[in-house]
Amino acid sequence: MQKKLYKLLEFNKQFVQDEQYEPMITDGHPNEGLLILSCMDARLVELAHRSLGLKNGDVKFLKNAGAQIQSDDDSIMGSILVGTYALGCEEVVIMGHTDCGFGKLKPEVMFDAMKEKGITDELIQSLDYDFDNMFTGFSVTEDNVRKNVEKVRNHPLFNKEIPVHGVIIDSKTGEVTLIDDGYKQ
Ligand SMILES: [Zn+2]
Repeated sequence: MQKKLYKLLEFNKQFVQDEQYEPMITDGHPNEGLLILSCMDARLVELAHRSLGLKNGDVKFLKNAGAQIQSDDDSIMGSILVGTYALGCEEVVIMGHTDCGFGKLKPEVMFDAMKEKGITDELIQSLDYDFDNMFTGFSVTEDNVRKNVEKVRNHPLFNKEIPVHGVIIDSKTGEVTLIDDGYKQ
């Protein structure tokens, strides 16, 4: 098996040596005052930033599978609270995307893959996790974005003065469609 990390580290040596980081030097404050939650989909690695004209240092970018807030006390919601109360974010954007892999996910698919690797039914059943919440996708991306926007807006500790927007980015063209305008709330 090719060791993927070693390949990255090899590149990294040259990157630092050539001072390629120079144009990206900035501080941790988000220059555009924005926090964006999006999906971990590989197509968005550059597309999400470049299609919006964002540069290094402009925004706080959170990502997980499906751009999801699983619960009021999960790490994503915690980061949104930290970003808006303590780290300079004045607006929040929930960014879904077309053709999301997580959207199609079903718990059975995950359990089958785990069992193939030797994880037993007994172990799975003994765990008190909310697997449906963790491993169930969604059928309509727009509904899912709206649901997550509402979760932030309605969080008991969220600063209600902060606009929360919902958008969907096209995973191929980068076209961003506004589906929930937080200024109108
Ligand atoms: Zn996705």
